[in-house]
Amino acid sequence: MKLKTKYPNSSIFLFVLLFSVGIAACKKDDKVTPVDNTTSVSETEKQALLKMLEEEKLARDTYKHLYSIWNVKVFDNISQSEQTHMNTVEDLLKQFGIEYTIEDPGVFANEELRNYYESFVDQGDDSLVQALKIGATIEDLDIVDLRDYLKWVTNSSIQSAFTKLQCGSRNHIRSFVSQLQSNNSDYTPQFLSVAEYEEILAGSHESCN
Ligand code: ZN
Ligand code: ZN
Repeated sequence: MKLKTKYPNSSIFLFVLLFSVGIAACKKDDKVTPVDNTTSVSETEKQALLKMLEEEKLARDTYKHLYSIWNVKVFDNISQSEQTHMNTVEDLLKQFGIEYTIEDPGVFANEELRNYYESFVDQGDDSLVQALKIGATIEDLDIVDLRDYLKWVTNSSIQSAFTKLQCGSRNHIRSFVSQLQSNNSDYTPQFLSVAEYEEILAGSHESCN
């Protein structure tokens, strides 16, 4: 009697199992949405966003200051572009619910950026050529920092934002170097390799959207 009842029980078990697998398979099919990694942000990606927010602010604040000293349009134009770069990063911080603070102009939470600001403003006050070299230096630094972040960032929203920022920086460095050359001067890369720098300068103005 025991053997006889065991058989139908196994059949029921098998049926239930196959049915469950079937449901699971159907559920899986219903959920064929593209992989969205925009919602997952790692701790290091958060730190990268916070760092870039202040690094874009470093550019904006330095150019605003240099515009107030030299009254040369390139500083005004590019400081406005840096504001849009800050907005791009800020939008992502909001989207991911990451807390951030934007300090007053010339004030930086990050010590390295604070030291850069003080040194850039100090050197940029010396001459217009020096101010333009500071502009090229900031863009040189930005391109390399963004390149380093892009090596490991996997969140697609951050990847596309950083790619856009880097494109903007290439346009900015071309503008500063062209102004330097108009002033019988030039720039030597401090962060980019000479080969990378020359490749950027050989390119023309890019549309970054
Ligand atoms: Zn920028
Ligand atoms: Zn820039």
